[in-house]
Amino acid sequence: MELLIVGGGLAAQRCIEVLRAAGDDRPVTVVCDESVRPYDRPPLSKEGLLGPVDTSFRPEGWHAHHGVELRLGVAASALDAARRIVTLADGERLRYDALLIATGARARALPGVPRAQVLRDRFDGERLREALLAGGPLAVVGAGLIGLEAAAAARALGVEVSVIEAAPRPLAGILGPRAGAWITALHRAEGVVLRTGVTVERDRGDALELADGTRVPAANVLAGIGVAPAAAWLAGSGLDPSGVAVDDAGRTGLPGVYAAGDVSGSGHWEAAARGGATVAGALLGRADRAPAPPSFWSDQHGVRLQCVGDPRGSAEHIAHGDLASRCFELDHHLDGRTTAVLLAGRPPSALRTARARLHTIETITRRAA
Ligand code: FAD
Repeated sequence: MELLIVGGGLAAQRCIEVLRAAGDDRPVTVVCDESVRPYDRPPLSKEGLLGPVDTSFRPEGWHAHHGVELRLGVAASALDAARRIVTLADGERLRYDALLIATGARARALPGVPRAQVLRDRFDGERLREALLAGGPLAVVGAGLIGLEAAAAARALGVEVSVIEAAPRPLAGILGPRAGAWITALHRAEGVVLRTGVTVERDRGDALELADGTRVPAANVLAGIGVAPAAAWLAGSGLDPSGVAVDDAGRTGLPGVYAAGDVSGSGHWEAAARGGATVAGALLGRADRAPAPPSFWSDQHGVRLQCVGDPRGSAEHIAHGDLASRCFELDHHLDGRTTAVLLAGRPPSALRTARARLHTIETITRRAA
């Protein structure tokens, strides 16, 4: 039962680790268009911008030692699910018994500003670090997690930083208004010029001109405007080339074909890791797992943010600390239920307690009493 994995990131690595930990020794081949062995991405927008870090999941030789063939530096270009064949960009065709699609996502380019960099892989990280060290102001377009983390790292390097966000507040897609106001205050206190509710009109070479006619200095530009699933290569396969839908066990609609991670829209580290493990479980014949609530973490200006649940569209209540500090817990309530918890400056153990609060109607009643 040969397993072919297309994409060599977190979901792929986690799937392999769970299989091998269970004593499963089926042959595994990983095809990845990057030319380095699997590595972790979160440090790229954090400490990786401050200095070189090796974020490889495993040391050189680990994969060969565990019966995993790494085919690096070559992309998969087509899937023929009826014949169970994946074609590579160099024309080679690989047969599989089971296939895991784990191709992640691509960062969106900034329209009208071709010099804008993105931050998705190791080489993007190295390029951005070199640009920051070369000096000059940085303009970050998009106040999402990666844009804000890069802004914080650039400030730590002493770089002048502006962040431009079209929405009325940062992280609007994933956090509520009170948390958004707190993040705004955090970045401004650290010297980031944060412009919200405005878009980029044109590139003036050394500055970006905004829709309100103002300019922000920009020797370097980072686009942090989101990602799209890296699924275009699946066109014509029967799977959606704009993102692969899966069931709770990571199965796609095609026989023997699974998907996990950002290519199936998960978006954050924990979901990608869990997706890879879930597919391993399915291959091992274990029961489907219940879906877990979404969660993410982020590091900005020395503050660890952790969030579990879906905080959008619900009222925010302080459960610990206060928003004037860099240490608090903010619960989100909707229809008498705790739907999400955001933690700032709290240890990982506090996240476990926060998880337990999710969806417990009693939580609110108890606190009110
Ligand atoms: P990836 O890790 O992207 O791996 C996919 C691999 O497949 C890539 O190597 C890609 O090049 C390759 N590939 C794509 N197409 C093909 C093809 N056709 N053929 C062969 N190979 C292909 N999440 C958090 O929760 N907290 C954080 O703090 C955080 N920080 C992050 C910082 C950065 C800079 C980035 C980029 C992401 C961050 N994330 C964070 C998100 C998290 O890292 C991702 O959700 C996770 O890496 C997704 O794993 P994946 O295996 O789905 O995809």
